[in-house]
Amino acid sequence: MRTRYSYVKKPAMPTYIVFIGPPGVGKGTQANILAERTGLPHISSGDLFRENIQGQTELGKLAQTYINRGELVPDDVTIAMIRERLSHPDCARGALMDGFPRTPAQADAFTEMLADFGGKVDLVPCIFAPEAMLVERLSGRWTCRAQGHIFHQVNNPPQKPGVCDIDGSELYQRDDDKIETVRRRIQVYTAQTALLIAYYRQRGLLAEINGGRAIEEVTADLLAILPSRCYAETN
Ligand code: AMP
Repeated sequence: MRTRYSYVKKPAMPTYIVFIGPPGVGKGTQANILAERTGLPHISSGDLFRENIQGQTELGKLAQTYINRGELVPDDVTIAMIRERLSHPDCARGALMDGFPRTPAQADAFTEMLADFGGKVDLVPCIFAPEAMLVERLSGRWTCRAQGHIFHQVNNPPQKPGVCDIDGSELYQRDDDKIETVRRRIQVYTAQTALLIAYYRQRGLLAEINGGRAIEEVTADLLAILPSRCYAETN
């Protein structure tokens, strides 16, 4: 049977959701879950940088010096990388943004970029949690070398230490998940990204979400506020 939306090949306007929140708050986890539910791609600026670092591209070499210090990569480089990614066909219906934009300057550039793609920022879920919880989550995080599966030495330990339960590859600690860098990343977040909260609050797009709860509870809150057209092609 045809669904109510089955005639919709491509919505008139793509949907762009911007997740804001400090490192370790669960932005990536939630964006992955919502990507599955909506069919929109999850675009993580941190993952794009890490892919470039792994591939030893010029962009990767430049970004690595900033990332290892827990600092932001310069705007021009970051914005060009995101524009390129959003021009791929899988982003035709929009995207779930994780880690970009991070500053008001990037947010202005993003608005201009989205106008070129025929869209705008639709919603900005801002996920928060106490700092001590973020440090604890990140400094205990171990990431799978092959596919980025995430484990935690206390909350979600692998069955065999140092080995991914899912694909058997080696688990490693990201350089920027080491405790000194984690603290620095949270400071950078507070100093710079917090301005973004004011930026989107002023524009009436911000939705504050408590990330200090179980994953499913956070997901339920997010699903309740997503624009309905996100589901147009998946219902
Ligand atoms: P993440 O995985 O989002 O924590 O990002 C890891 C690192 O990549 C950050 O600490 C920054 O050095 C860099 N990065 C990610 N997104 C951005 C961005 N929008 N602007 C500048 N640097 C970024």
